[in-house]
Amino acid sequence: MSEPRGTILVVEDEPQMRRFLRASLGAEGYQVREAWTVADGLREAAAEHPDAILLDLGLPDGDGLELLRRVREWSQVPVIVVSARGREEEKVAALDAGADDYLPKPFGTKELLARLRVALRHARAGSTPGEPVLAVGPLRMDLERHEAALDGRPVRLTPIEWRLLALLAAHAGKVLTHAQILRQVWGPNATAQSHYVRVYMAELRKKLEADPSRPRLLLTEPGVGYRLAPPA
Ligand code: CA
Repeated sequence: MSEPRGTILVVEDEPQMRRFLRASLGAEGYQVREAWTVADGLREAAAEHPDAILLDLGLPDGDGLELLRRVREWSQVPVIVVSARGREEEKVAALDAGADDYLPKPFGTKELLARLRVALRHARAGSTPGEPVLAVGPLRMDLERHEAALDGRPVRLTPIEWRLLALLAAHAGKVLTHAQILRQVWGPNATAQSHYVRVYMAELRKKLEADPSRPRLLLTEPGVGYRLAPPA
C-alpha cells in the first residue's frame, strides 16, 4: 500500500452516491471521511482539516452552499461541488461562493479524479508563493520579466490581456466565472461588464489559438465563464 494521497471529506446524503465516492476515492489511495448534513459537514471540516471537500448541494438540513460560505470564512480548502443541479446559474453561484470546481451528476470516476487532482495541485501551488514562471502546456509566462511565449515564440500582449491571461494561467484547469475575472482584472466596480471579458478573450484567442473559433487552450464554459486548459 502506498502513502495515503490525502483526506477527502464527502458531504452527501445519498447512500449510493457516498458508496460510489468512497470506492472510487479509496481505490486511488485517498482517505475518505463522510458527512450527510450541513451541520456534520461543518463539524468534520473543522475537526479533520481534509485536503479537499466534495460537496452535494441538496442536503437534508440545508443547502451545501451555506456550508461552502461558512467554510470559506476560515479555510481555502479545495471544494468541488457535486450536484444534480446542472443549471448555469447554479454553477455560477457555487463558483462565486468559493467552490473550486463544479461537477454535474452523473459523472464518471475518471472525470472526478481528474478534477480532484487539479484542485489539490492548486491548493499545494497556492502554498508556495513567489513562483516567477507560469507554465501551462505550450504557454509560458515569466511574471518577473513580463514575457509570454507560446511554443517558445514570444507573444506580445497589452496590459489587460496580460492580466487576463496571467489570471487564467494561475488557475489553469479551473473554471473562473465572468464575475471573478472582472473583479480580478478590471476591479470590483466592473462585475456587470461581462462584454469586457468576451472582447479580450477574443483578442487573446487571436494571439494564442491556431483556430480562434475552435480554441484548444482558452476554453469557454457556456454561461459560466472560462477555463485555461492545456491540450491533452
Ligand atoms: Ca442530495
